[in-house]
Amino acid sequence: MTWVADIPRRFVREPTAAEYRELRRLRGTQLPGLGVRARIVLLSAERVPIPEIMRRRRVSRPTVAGWLRRFEQSGVPGLLTRARSGRPSRVTPDLLRHLAIVTSARPRDLGVPRPAWSLAQLREYLVKTGAAPAISLESLRVALRRAGLSLKPARTGLAQKGATTMIPGAFEYHAPTSIGEATKLLATLGEDAKVLSGGQSLIPLMKLRLASPRHVVDINGIGGLAYIREADGFLRIGGLTREVDLEESELIRTRYPLLFDTCRVIADPLVRNMATIGGNLAHGDPANDHPATMLALGAEIVAKGVKAERRIPIGSFFTGPFETALKPDELLVEIRVPLPAARSGGAYLKLERKVGDFATAAVAVQLTLGANGTCEQVGIGLTNVGLTPIKASRAEAALKGKRPDEATIKQAAQLAADASQPSADLRGPVEYKKDLIRVLTARALRKALERAGGGR
Ligand SMILES: Cc1cc2nc3c(=O)[nH]c(=O)nc-3n(C[C@H](O)[C@H](O)[C@H](O)COP(=O)(O)OP(=O)(O)OC[C@H]3O[C@@H](n4cnc5c(N)ncnc54)[C@H](O)[C@@H]3O)c2cc1C
Repeated sequence: MTWVADIPRRFVREPTAAEYRELRRLRGTQLPGLGVRARIVLLSAERVPIPEIMRRRRVSRPTVAGWLRRFEQSGVPGLLTRARSGRPSRVTPDLLRHLAIVTSARPRDLGVPRPAWSLAQLREYLVKTGAAPAISLESLRVALRRAGLSLKPARTGLAQKGATTMIPGAFEYHAPTSIGEATKLLATLGEDAKVLSGGQSLIPLMKLRLASPRHVVDINGIGGLAYIREADGFLRIGGLTREVDLEESELIRTRYPLLFDTCRVIADPLVRNMATIGGNLAHGDPANDHPATMLALGAEIVAKGVKAERRIPIGSFFTGPFETALKPDELLVEIRVPLPAARSGGAYLKLERKVGDFATAAVAVQLTLGANGTCEQVGIGLTNVGLTPIKASRAEAALKGKRPDEATIKQAAQLAADASQPSADLRGPVEYKKDLIRVLTARALRKALERAGGGR
């Protein structure tokens, strides 16, 4: 690795070619402070010594060091990303997964001569192995919290008493029978508690000790949370509705092809027998299939907390990797999808490595044609090509009000690919995934158009 600046004991990496371009663009921006920050990084990248940068930009040493560190942590255009929310943008799903693996191993097994991990040793290890260059202790603490990981060895209650060993860490089990009881419990227990619905994401995490909640609040005993019906201008789906019920619903099959396509490609029948649509959305995994579909459908989430109920537009529901707008005391109780107008159609296309796998990439499309054949309404959502599910707004805008001919479809498909921000992994490199989004978007648009015209 090469260093941008020779700051003692601080690793600062060289910008990539794309980042150089972005930094140069930002250098000319009128946004307050942004140009200065971009110049600081660029000067440093050009090997200008720090005292000289301080003199030229009339800034202090901490300011220079601070902006180089920010650059290191957030990337470009991430020069801005960390600023407002205070969230470290280096906390990517890849890092969360990596943390889960590293913290589940004993330090000694990874060549670190310590009996247990401390935050500082964990950071040193991550930096040394290149998993998280120069992550701050605070960022690491946030990452661990977000992944539900603890550096303290998990207690195994029964094992401690000399009885049979449980696979997950010890937890207290609660089984409320009403929404009020559940939200009161959640409000009291705070971040130590996890809601359990289908358990198809939570239980595997707990079994692997990747999550060790102290309290599990099982909502399966709450009546009236599983339903699929149309009422008051919406398709209403209860948060505890199982995937299998969506898949077997005549209403979904005949009126909501996009949703029908989606629930049939989630995992396998065994998982779908238990998994709920509420859990799928509340989990906030960008690889899950329902989020993109709900973005395309323009859905709303109904959340109930101890004091009030609120409706959250799906566009503001996914706030980060594995993070949603739900508050710790809130239950996802309902999903509302606007009733489809005449001449509406939708489709979900997913490429997976094998049946039951998460998507390499997938695209959800929902559209409505006007009487003159133009696109009156269109929604496009992308799965597993970013830190959160992505709404391809520019692709939607390219179609709205236009006749969806081949040229327009191709243009929208390219814009959707441009909106995707995949990372390279075992499922493929970045360029492949972007191109996949382009191809799947065009196909999903054609399929949705066919269905809007009455086809199946
Ligand atoms: C082998 C396998 C393959 C899979 N493949 C896919 C796939 O291809 N596509 C896909 O989309 N998913 C896939 N999944 C994930 C699966 O669909 C999960 O079941 C789903 O993500 C979570 O739903 P759940 O009801 O099981 O939730 P749980 O596991 O019970 O909970 C998941 C999370 O959501 C929270 N939560 C659950 N319900 C609520 C609620 N009502 N209110 C507030 N918070 C809540 C929990 O606290 C927890 O943090 C797969 C899972 C497995 C095991």
